[in-house]
Amino acid sequence: MNMPVKEMLFGDAWEYAPAPESTGHAHYEKRYGHFIDGKFVDAKSYMKSVNPATEEVLFEFGVGTEADVDKAVQAARRAFEGPWGKMGGRERSKYIYRIARMIQEKARELAILETLDGGKPIKESRDVDIPLAAAHFFYYAGWADKLEYAFPGTNPRPLGVAGQVIPWNFPLLMAAWKIAPALATGNTVVLKAAETTPLTAMKLAEIIQEAGLPPGVVNFVNGAGATGAAIVNHPDINKIAFTGSTGVGKIIQRAVAGTGKRLTLELGGKGANIVFEDAPLEQAIEGIVNGIYFNQGHVCCAGSRLLVQESVADEVVAKLERRIKTLVVGDPLDKNTDVGAINSKEQLDRITEMVGIGEAEGAVRHSAPCELPSKGYFFAPTFFTDVSQSHRIAQEEIFGPVLSVLTFRTPEEAIEKANNTPYGLGSGIWTDKGSKMFRVAGALQAGVVWGNTYNKFDPGSPFGGHKESGFGREGGRQGLLAYLEVS
Ligand code: NAP
Ligand code: MG
Repeated sequence: MNMPVKEMLFGDAWEYAPAPESTGHAHYEKRYGHFIDGKFVDAKSYMKSVNPATEEVLFEFGVGTEADVDKAVQAARRAFEGPWGKMGGRERSKYIYRIARMIQEKARELAILETLDGGKPIKESRDVDIPLAAAHFFYYAGWADKLEYAFPGTNPRPLGVAGQVIPWNFPLLMAAWKIAPALATGNTVVLKAAETTPLTAMKLAEIIQEAGLPPGVVNFVNGAGATGAAIVNHPDINKIAFTGSTGVGKIIQRAVAGTGKRLTLELGGKGANIVFEDAPLEQAIEGIVNGIYFNQGHVCCAGSRLLVQESVADEVVAKLERRIKTLVVGDPLDKNTDVGAINSKEQLDRITEMVGIGEAEGAVRHSAPCELPSKGYFFAPTFFTDVSQSHRIAQEEIFGPVLSVLTFRTPEEAIEKANNTPYGLGSGIWTDKGSKMFRVAGALQAGVVWGNTYNKFDPGSPFGGHKESGFGREGGRQGLLAYLEVS
């Protein structure tokens, strides 16, 4: 049932006038050290964070040493053994609610800062990252005084000091995913944000200070990989929560082995978005676009492999080709922008390299013919057809706006291909048939399976991986378990 695809040509009738968000009221310091024991403290040395859309330096932030990490861990330990550890869940929840409300109050400013520091479109920071970060604190605030009901008969107890290391793709949201359940369960925290996006973590530190949390309950040590390693290796930490690449996750798993520290790892992915011939195709196209071009494809659970049933493959590819031409690529602060800046020069180089590999492997490249800004790090929305299972672009995470399209004939073949990667994080299924949806979902090795939608998140739904995508769950009642001793 191949339908001819008719292209409607509107010329330039759909050009948008610029709609830049003003940055006037978004305030940040020119220099941040660390946030330890309730205070902002100076660092020994500093590095710079740039705006990836303009390449301009925004501010400097501290490079945490082992001594800084040790101070933060000691402060967290004192808080755990002192006021925070002794506080009941009901009192703890009041602080967490306060943080949630303050994030909402400052939502506009936080969204602008997230976009400035990381390059994501303002409409995503504004409509996804910041509201979800607040929602996470609200959700876990509600659990703080109900832990015995979450795990009845188990006398749930906090672990102690949690060391947390997060990536750059959803900076504030990843901090919320880590901090909210840790606080709800009565733990204290030492967190390191990614080196390209520490700004909203510093604003969260201000919020935590203003919310009146006892000193040392949440500490932020800034820095690069070595600072993350210092947290992972600190002997007085009880639990490590890491979100990032599978390569670093493996290093951390080895480092933690035999130390008695609890560990959760949220790692990379190569999600399959499976489109059956009976799917509502126009909706599926939107889901494919959302699955891979949302946040420039810097999404661990991105639908970076499209598996489309052969009978509708030509139609889907033709529709997709037209759709990506309409994506607005450019200034992340413009409210019309769909695809913003790539987070860093390193990431742009990695995407460019992987796309070159795809071409050399013989896949056919389709890139939106958009004009990219002359400054900053940008990459045109791209997909590859004629991709085979063995191609590196079908196996390895690109973490950019690049989709690999593969085809299948039967549901069995779709399942086999979807599971044929070392990863198992997110995936999507598009079909009109509920029974097919449930059967295929049950057979996929993935922590999350979306049905006729993609990239939907809710604090009540647990999120996490299988295989090399890691272990442990964040979100939901299950997310509490990562921070509790239950016995
Ligand atoms: P990354 O290089 O692994 O970095 C993640 C964090 O770990 C950063 O804060 C990083 O510091 C730090 N780090 C680097 N080396 C370390 C070490 N040896 N010990 C301890 N910490 C260390 O990953 P990324 O490039 O920032 O993020 C992209 C990856 O994260 C992708 O693979 C993506 O799939 C994954 N991710 C997974 C999830 C999930 O929930 N499963 C969510 C988001 C992202 P620097 O910033 O200084 O490098
Ligand atoms: Mg930056």
